This record gives sequence, C-alpha cells and structure tokens, in this order.
Amino acid sequence: MIRPETKTCQNCKSGFTIEPEDFAFYEKIHVPPPTFCPDCRLQLRLLFRNERTFYKRKCDLCGKNMISSYAPEYTYPVYCQKCWWSDKWDPYQYGREYDFSKPFF
Ligand SMILES: [Zn+2]
Ligand SMILES: [Zn+2]
Repeated sequence: MIRPETKTCQNCKSGFTIEPEDFAFYEKIHVPPPTFCPDCRLQLRLLFRNERTFYKRKCDLCGKNMISSYAPEYTYPVYCQKCWWSDKWDPYQYGREYDFSKPFF
C-alpha cells in the first residue's frame, strides 16, 4: 500500500502532497513523480503563452488585417477568428500518424 508523500518543491521550497492515486497514475504513464508543487507546475505550463503583447499581421488564409498575439516574423500559419472556426482549412495538414503500440511520451 502506497501512502501519501509530502515533498518539498524544488522551486519555491513549499511542501506539497502526492496522493497514492497520483503515484499509480505516474506509474501508468511512465513518468517520474513531480519535484515542483502544483502552483509552480502551472506557472511553467503557462509560461510559453504570450497574453500581453499584440501584433498587427495578416490572416494567412483570407489575408485580412488582424490583431494577434503571434508576431508577423513567425513562419507558421496564423488564421483570423472567422477562418479558424471555418471549414476552409484542412487539419490533416498538420496531423501525424500515431503508433498505438508505443507510449505517448
Ligand atoms: Zn513550488
Ligand atoms: Zn481569415
């Protein structure tokens, strides 16, 4: 029987608890137990997203001017709201084959 384990966050040094069912889940998906507390993990997950700086750029589908959080220098396509929700583009363009016999990670 696995007991809850109290750990110290490697980032903010506060204590956090890992429940037995969490350990079972980490084992199931073959990842090690976390060393950061839930708050610090959330911060890490949100870091990549730009929510404060906006750019003028053109929609890569209809060519209309729009305001985006993605700078014009980025080479990947960025669509306006209307195009994004439309059926005018094919999601299979970026789709990949998935091998179910291999673990996701
Ligand atoms: Zn922390
Ligand atoms: Zn558009």
